[in-house]
Amino acid sequence: MLKQRTLKSITRAVGVGLHSGQRVELTLRPAAPNTGIVFRRVDLPQPVDIPVRFDSVCDTRMASTISPGGDPGAPKVQTIEHLMSACAGLGLDNLYVDITADEVPILDGSSASFVFLLQSAGIEQQNAAKKFLRVKKTVEIREGEGERAMWAKLEPHHGWRFTFEIAFNHPALDATGQQVVFEMGSGRYKQEIARARTFGFTKDVEAMRSRGLTLGGSMDNAIVIDDYRVLNADGLRYDDEFAKHKILDAIGDLYIAGHPLLAAYTSFKGGHALNNKLLRKLLADADAWELVTFEDEAKAPAGFAQLAPAW
Ligand SMILES: [Zn+2]
Repeated sequence: MLKQRTLKSITRAVGVGLHSGQRVELTLRPAAPNTGIVFRRVDLPQPVDIPVRFDSVCDTRMASTISPGGDPGAPKVQTIEHLMSACAGLGLDNLYVDITADEVPILDGSSASFVFLLQSAGIEQQNAAKKFLRVKKTVEIREGEGERAMWAKLEPHHGWRFTFEIAFNHPALDATGQQVVFEMGSGRYKQEIARARTFGFTKDVEAMRSRGLTLGGSMDNAIVIDDYRVLNADGLRYDDEFAKHKILDAIGDLYIAGHPLLAAYTSFKGGHALNNKLLRKLLADADAWELVTFEDEAKAPAGFAQLAPAW
């Protein structure tokens, strides 16, 4: 049987939120089978649990933000996507995330620090079958026209494949790889995807700060780009770091479904909003998906049966 996984021990991280700039502590704890991933706001007078579900997403403007039942007035946790991506990459099904503020720390702007943290705590198999969300028919979201067109789709696939194409019409970004294809079962999440950092443009910073966004952003946790070039002294970590970060985000955004998908995801210029709309459209159509388990590990997609691989 292909089994669910949780952490072996408790682990902690301290950092600042990218948007809030607030100091925040995370405590990651093992959870029982079928718990899923649950954030707990422990800074509030009464701790509030926020289970990660497609319909707990309440804001997707700059990051993926969740609240109980998706209620915009309820306590929230923003910027969950990089931690969710690391959990997907390590095949973690069940986890409690105690958090002392309303935003997950940005750390180095990628998911590599979360991968390191989770792997250091150790990963344990549990006596319950791991559930996959198998996509049975193609679901697609398209928005905008002409230059502004963007789309994302999910197609049936015996594995979990991501194809992302960026098009920013900017000299520094156009000079890098525009399209990346990544298969989760390759075992190369940690090497190929996890180190890709989030990025931002200096021209947007003032406007975003005036709206209370990116207050914690710096060259320590983002690739910063002016009108012509990347400003970080060390340059890029991958030749196609921008497209890879979009895949890192998409992995985290889709893992909000609560299970790994068996699907091929393809997007052109998508983002958090489109990813959540795609997930909602998929899950709203009962004929488009089903939950499956693998009693016989040999029938699972290649790579998914290894314990704590780097995918
Ligand atoms: Zn991101």
